[in-house]
Amino acid sequence: MVTVYDVLIIGGGPAGLTAGLYTSRAKLKTLLVERMILGGQVMTTTKVENYPGFPGGIDGPDLMARFQEHCQEFGLETMTGEVTALVDQGEEKLVTVDGKQLRARAVIITTGAEPSKLGVPGESQFVGRGVSYCATCDGAFFRNVPVAIVGGGDTAAEEALFLSRFASKVYLVHRRDELRATKVLQDRIFANDKIEPIWNSLVEGVIGDNTGVTALTLRNRKDDTQSTLDAVGMFVAIGVTPKAHFLADILDLNPEGYILTDSECRTSMPGVFAAGDVRKKILKQIATAVGDGAIAAIVTEKYLDGFE
Ligand code: NAP
Repeated sequence: MVTVYDVLIIGGGPAGLTAGLYTSRAKLKTLLVERMILGGQVMTTTKVENYPGFPGGIDGPDLMARFQEHCQEFGLETMTGEVTALVDQGEEKLVTVDGKQLRARAVIITTGAEPSKLGVPGESQFVGRGVSYCATCDGAFFRNVPVAIVGGGDTAAEEALFLSRFASKVYLVHRRDELRATKVLQDRIFANDKIEPIWNSLVEGVIGDNTGVTALTLRNRKDDTQSTLDAVGMFVAIGVTPKAHFLADILDLNPEGYILTDSECRTSMPGVFAAGDVRKKILKQIATAVGDGAIAAIVTEKYLDGFE
């Protein structure tokens, strides 16, 4: 007999795991499908300082291990696989996972977002050989050498601080002359002797040889001059791109590719909900992903009750 899940959750970050915790606790037959490893973007965060309940902070992977353990208490079923299609068949949704079709009465999409690319010459060529999108993952390879981090938000600020533990110098290349990052992070950046902001500058290209990255070409936006910055690593932290491409023809997305929902996480397809960073919303934090996951789960439960 074909299994029909009550709820199929796509994505295993904080939003997906929270939704899974709620639906499995509510005794709904739930399957969570994750493409890589459970935990999402938080797995690449060294210290989470602003998630309530953990004074002094907690390492991202440790926090997500607790989320998983909590879900297991309620018997959440999980599997690894990539979802490539979602078809609405009214009271049932067909979800293609690694080429196989699974059935569910409701779907919660929590696929999150991935780091955006600069799109400059040399960037893709040197990925893994000096270009990285995750300082926490790769920073320790850059001991006593100069590196650059591109961006001015919270991620760039946190990653610059992390990189300053290893690198001889951290250039913070930002396209404006003030950071977008929160004040507490800005204060730490400006107090750190190893971090040097390079204002009003765009990376135009990545230069390297067979050893990897050797320098970046920059363009100053104020005086339109070009310069070369000696750095053997370029960490890109210019924001994120939602992972909803596979849904472009199925759900309403905004021009940046975020899934459009109402305030209760309903998408344009009945029985399909979206929660966390993949959804268009004002604040992307673990706390808001968790809130979204809980709302999506409760609204899903109400939706399923409507059938009974
Ligand atoms: P973000 O806040 O969107 O910041 C992106 C930064 O990159 C901005 O400074 C932006 O410049 C710059 N940028 C964007 N496109 C660029 C381009 N093509 N070339 C050069 N620079 C470019 O992204 P984020 O820092 O990844 O943060 C994402 C979300 O996660 C935010 O809501 C953030 O608060 C949250 N977050 C929170 C924490 C925390 O609370 N501890 C940690 C990490 C992330 P402009 O400033 O000129 O736009």
